[in-house]
Amino acid sequence: MNELTCIECKTKTMSLVTDAYRADVRHDGRSYLVEIPKLRYFRCKHCGSIVIPDEADEVIGIELRRVANLLPPHRIKEIRDKFGLTQKELAERMGIGEATVCRWEKGTQIQQRAFDKLLRAYEDVPGLHEYLGGEKPQAALVSSPTPVAPLNVTVNMLVIYPSPSTVAPFTAAWLSGSSGTPLLMSGSGR
Ligand SMILES: [Zn+2]
Repeated sequence: MNELTCIECKTKTMSLVTDAYRADVRHDGRSYLVEIPKLRYFRCKHCGSIVIPDEADEVIGIELRRVANLLPPHRIKEIRDKFGLTQKELAERMGIGEATVCRWEKGTQIQQRAFDKLLRAYEDVPGLHEYLGGEKPQAALVSSPTPVAPLNVTVNMLVIYPSPSTVAPFTAAWLSGSSGTPLLMSGSGR
């Protein structure tokens, strides 16, 4: 009863099961081991191929964000609300499309690690909100500040900051620092 035709082997042996789910899930160029003790998905008795329904996909997404240490959708909205921004305004400040922010908050798309760091920085680094808002640098014509040591690419972004002498150290410390270190999965055999 209720069995569907498997798209792989074409036999009518695919049914909804509640079972453990374990898979290496790719996101943003890395592989993360996602394990869920009980998940409802379709599985073919004949060839073992599986089909993940939307609700199960959502559960996998939640677990993937957890193991990859990425902000969940409600936290992204929380950060945006904290600064009183619309989705469009946040998107403009991050240099991305409004639809992308919308999908992050709906949970239909998972942000890349770089944007996740930027979102966390948005909340944690004083002055970043103003910087990303594109306020005109008032002191731009005053003698140029001592260049920040060229540590890495993120520094290139900071060099053009309106007042790098005050804000860059915070940002640099944050970027290399304690919060938001991604959890790297190692030895998740394939
Ligand atoms: Zn099959």
